[in-house]
Amino acid sequence: MIHLCEVGPRDGLQNEKKHVSMEKKVDLIKRLIDAGVRKVEAVSFVNPKVVPQMADAEDVLAELGSVDAEIAGLVLSRSGLDRALKTKVDRLHVAAATSDTFNLKNARRTVEEGVRELSGVIQESVGAGRPVTAVLATSFGCPYQGKVEPDAVFKAADSFVEAGASEIVLADTTGMANPVQVREMVGAFRERFGEELPLGLHFHNTRGLGLANVLAGYEAGVTRFDASIGGLGGCPFAPKAVGNVCSEDMIHMFQEMGAATGVELEKMVETAQQLEGWMEKTLEGMVMKAGPASQTVEA
Ligand code: ZN
Repeated sequence: MIHLCEVGPRDGLQNEKKHVSMEKKVDLIKRLIDAGVRKVEAVSFVNPKVVPQMADAEDVLAELGSVDAEIAGLVLSRSGLDRALKTKVDRLHVAAATSDTFNLKNARRTVEEGVRELSGVIQESVGAGRPVTAVLATSFGCPYQGKVEPDAVFKAADSFVEAGASEIVLADTTGMANPVQVREMVGAFRERFGEELPLGLHFHNTRGLGLANVLAGYEAGVTRFDASIGGLGGCPFAPKAVGNVCSEDMIHMFQEMGAATGVELEKMVETAQQLEGWMEKTLEGMVMKAGPASQTVEA
C-alpha cells in the first residue's frame, strides 16, 4: 500500500503568489480527505512576515476541526513549536536543511546549530504527545554548494531519531535528485537505520524527474511519498524551485501499475481542477488535462 502525504495546502500554497482564503484552504483539505488521503501537511508555523500565505495556520486548524486523517504542521523553530502546541495539530513536521551553505543563507546558522535547536523541539513535542516527522531538506543536493554528503544527511537523522522523531523524510527541495541516487540513498539509509524506521521521500519536479524518483524509491522499498495536488508549490527559500511531484499524477502512476493507494483518482482530479480555478493559472498536473490512461477516447 502506498501512503500519500498531501503537502499541497502547505508546500504548495505557501509559494503561490495568489492568496487563498482560510475557508478555501479548509475546503481543499476536506476534499483531499474525502478522496481518501489519510495524511495532510496542512499548515506551517513559520514567521507570518516571511511566509504570509501561512499566517492563518491556527484558524485553518480550528475551522477544520477533527477529521479522518492525520493533520501535520511544519515547524522550523522553537517559536513555531510554541504555536503548534497550542493547536490540535496531530503531528509536527520538523524540517532542517543538511547543507551548511543553504542553512547559513536562510536561517543564519550552521547545520549543527540547527540540528541542536530542532532536536530540542522534537524532544519537547514528543513529550507533549505530538509525534514528529523529521524532514531533511536538500538531502539530494544543495543549489548553492552542489553535492551534499549522505553522511551529513544521516548524521542529522541520527540526532533527530535520538531526540524522538518517529519518521524520517528525505527531501529533494530543489529537484536535484536522480533515480540512481535515490536508490543508493534509500539503500544507505536502510543499512544505517534498519528496516523498521519509517522513511518517506519528498521530491520536487524542478527538472522533470519527480515521478522517476518516486518510482526509484518505490522499487527500493519505500511506500511513503509526499506530493502536492495539481503539482502546486515550490520553496520560498530556494532559488528556481518548482512544485512538488503532482499527487494525482503519482496516484495515477501507481494505480496503472496495480499498486493500491487508497485514494480515488477521480476525486483528486476534480479537486485539482477546482484548485486551478482558484489559482487562476494552469497547474502542472498532467492527468488532470489528459485523463487517466485507462479512460479511452472516441476514435
Ligand atoms: Zn518541498
